[in-house]
Amino acid sequence: MEEKERKDGYSTIRVPQQFAIEIDKLIGAHGFTSRAEIVKEAVRQYLQKYEDPHLSIINHDNNETKIRDTKLNQITTINITTKGNYCPACDASNCEHIRFALMQSDIIKTTKKEKKFESK
Ligand SMILES: [Zn+2]
Repeated sequence: MEEKERKDGYSTIRVPQQFAIEIDKLIGAHGFTSRAEIVKEAVRQYLQKYEDPHLSIINHDNNETKIRDTKLNQITTINITTKGNYCPACDASNCEHIRFALMQSDIIKTTKKEKKFESK
């Protein structure tokens, strides 16, 4: 796969034509309406399957996500906002806890809603 970074928060990924043909067969099935939806769901499931299972989401609201880390044996409350992310356990703006939280699709949706709200 080839990938291009873009400034709007999306990346463009090129897949072989044969993949695209197979993906297109699923459009209209299982509630999918586009290639992007199918690819996102497939990648999300893959990442969840292979992500180190020492991290789990306890709960989250608009800006805070509680993550249990069984390696550190602690719960960290990370802040995910459109202005930036912060993890107190790592004292970092980019760490495995933040990446794990961002992979959860409902949190990503929340962040997108905030963006729309702020742009008004
Ligand atoms: Zn962290």
